[in-house]
Amino acid sequence: MSDVRPLEVFLAQPRGFCAGVVRAIEIVERALEKYGPPVYVRHEIVHNKYVVESLKAKGAIFVEELSEVPPKAVTVFSAHGVARSIEEEAASRGLPVLNATCPLVTKVHNQGKRYTAKGRTLILIGHAGHPEVEGTMGQVPGPVLLVQNLDDVAALTLPSDTPVAYITQTTLSVDDTRDIIAALSKRFSDIQGPDTRDICYATQNRQSAVRAMSKLVDLILVVGANNSSNSNRLREIGTEAGIPSYLISDGSELNPDWLEGKKAVGITAGASAPEVLVDDVIEALRRIVPVSVSVLPGREENIEFVLPAELVTA
Ligand code: SF4
Repeated sequence: MSDVRPLEVFLAQPRGFCAGVVRAIEIVERALEKYGPPVYVRHEIVHNKYVVESLKAKGAIFVEELSEVPPKAVTVFSAHGVARSIEEEAASRGLPVLNATCPLVTKVHNQGKRYTAKGRTLILIGHAGHPEVEGTMGQVPGPVLLVQNLDDVAALTLPSDTPVAYITQTTLSVDDTRDIIAALSKRFSDIQGPDTRDICYATQNRQSAVRAMSKLVDLILVVGANNSSNSNRLREIGTEAGIPSYLISDGSELNPDWLEGKKAVGITAGASAPEVLVDDVIEALRRIVPVSVSVLPGREENIEFVLPAELVTA
């Protein structure tokens, strides 16, 4: 009998949790410890059902509107950030708020405010309806024009000599924004953008890792939620590299047909997906074929964001 060669499984490095997600989850956990349950969280703290369910089990209650939060209840804003109107509503109701907005999202808010203060018309490159985009648009005083693609740039009716500035959603793909920024620069004679674009370090590192991994594999599995922006971009990058790529939330969504004729599978995870779900996907593969797992070399991440002062124990 001939030996069956195991399916090679390569894990992208880095993958999964970023510093902003780690901080956001820790804020909810520490708030539960310090104040006791329930703690109210406006919107999914990060876009991952497993994370949300784990925190629910510890006593967190997730709501979409502040009107659902009872008086005086400890309230956490999610990592995606919120509009000023939400902050004002919380203040007017006297809710004790812990803000889990990722510091890199706050940096984009501040950048937008600076451009607006200089009298520039602000253009946000991002996806309509995403909570980060809604938060950013609602943080910047004055109008913000949202562009999602090249068609939106072409449809802008501003005179070409309008002083404009752009900012970007943190979780887009570098390639998408490059084309849109190039189109904006062609369209407007007086345009400014941040020195280093706002795509965050974690998004960039995970995207670079998928690009490198795509040279070694014939199938890519991205572990993440389908409403997770950065996870969707990872899948798109795999597809653009010509490798069949699928976004799955855990091993239960693995389709055995995808493995047909495949020799090497690459696995990565979006910034809001915990490693336990990557392990779950590997186990699901093991139930179908023998696998050998190795981690690809990649960038080390050692960024940590500080917690709100009231949650830091001495
Ligand atoms: S992906 Fe980037 S911007 Fe988003 S939470 Fe993580 S570190 Fe912050």
